[in-house]
Amino acid sequence: MTSPLLPVFARAELSFEKGEGPWLYNRDGERYLDFGAGIAVNALGHAHPHLVKTLTEQAAKVWHTSNLFQIPEGERLARRLVENTFADVVFFSNSGAEANEAAIKMARKYHAAGGHPERFRIVTFEGAFHGRTLATIAAGGQAKYIEGFGPKVEGFDQVPFDDMEALKAAIGPETAALMIEPIQGEAGIRSVPNAFLKELRALCDQHGLLLIFDEIQTGVGRTGKLFAYEWTGVTPDIMSVAKGIGGGFPLGACLATAEASKGMTAGTHGTTFGGNPLAMAVGNAVLDVILEPGFLQNVERMGLLLKQRLAELKDRHPGVIAEVRGHGLMMGLRTIVPNTEFIAAARAQKLILIGAGDNVARLLPPLIITEADITEAFDRMDAACLAIEAELNATAQRGAAQ
Ligand SMILES: *Cc1c(COP(=O)(O)O)cnc(C)c1O
Repeated sequence: MTSPLLPVFARAELSFEKGEGPWLYNRDGERYLDFGAGIAVNALGHAHPHLVKTLTEQAAKVWHTSNLFQIPEGERLARRLVENTFADVVFFSNSGAEANEAAIKMARKYHAAGGHPERFRIVTFEGAFHGRTLATIAAGGQAKYIEGFGPKVEGFDQVPFDDMEALKAAIGPETAALMIEPIQGEAGIRSVPNAFLKELRALCDQHGLLLIFDEIQTGVGRTGKLFAYEWTGVTPDIMSVAKGIGGGFPLGACLATAEASKGMTAGTHGTTFGGNPLAMAVGNAVLDVILEPGFLQNVERMGLLLKQRLAELKDRHPGVIAEVRGHGLMMGLRTIVPNTEFIAAARAQKLILIGAGDNVARLLPPLIITEADITEAFDRMDAACLAIEAELNATAQRGAAQ
């Protein structure tokens, strides 16, 4: 039977009925260790008691009122984000792409409000992923997402990753902002060197540009800090957040300084669903856990441990794994065999990993994982590598016998 769903996703033949912590269970009761967390979304794992309680309590009160009214839980979540970041104000959306749309509009409006409407162009970086709306595919600049959808939205200039000369050449009198992921996720866990980010900040200050960080994947504790920019010594003017912030509830946010957001006055932007009481209650519940003393230190500790174990895995299987990348619990394995083959072998061991560019398998486990979960993941990846090696050996022997 063909599915009535628009076939834009290549889905695995697997569905899950329930989850608990880092585990997912299918209909047959088989359990999978989830080191994908719904693409860095289930920050607190599955069915976290505090999230379940908060969501069900709020569901019995009020779900949605629209932004025509005050939403105290939203005020509270915004205040907590402001108190824990560089930002002064927050706009809530339902997704990452919408958070980026808000960031892009804000950067353009900043210059328009300052008397320079001609400054609307945004420089982005090769390999970037900023979402799937018309503007954010143009921002990402990847032909595979742009082709066939009409003229590319005007105003985005891509430069090669980590190439200062190309960047300087791309900045002109129409440039409004630079936009970058501190660690590129979809491109294959590619970290931007801190020195490069510092130069971006200096260039922005020199030319009066805004610096936008897309922390949709890196944010909300993923790297062991609340936001990845805290590692870099660089502060953006605008930052987009999504994925982990709702712990699985659709939620995004665009954070900004008062200065960068000065053009965004009443009526300039909006959303029907964004920041509704149900989403805000869940967002606050996620922060309750992540901001608990010691939580982020534990993420950092687990990240270091995971990195060590991945290095060990690479040493044990040099014919399968080429490189370990990443920071905290945002890790990548660049494989020698096709990454899809490695991910399939891991799935055969009931471990969920996620593909990325550059032949990388991503590990984005829930932030609540323990040392025992890491050991379990290691053992499953070790078994997956052994299975791949056995297959490679069998193929080589068949070749030699011929
Ligand atoms: C996932 C992601 C997005 C898009 O988020 P959606 O919620 O899918 O719209 C944008 N930027 C980065 C860095 C992402 O990882």
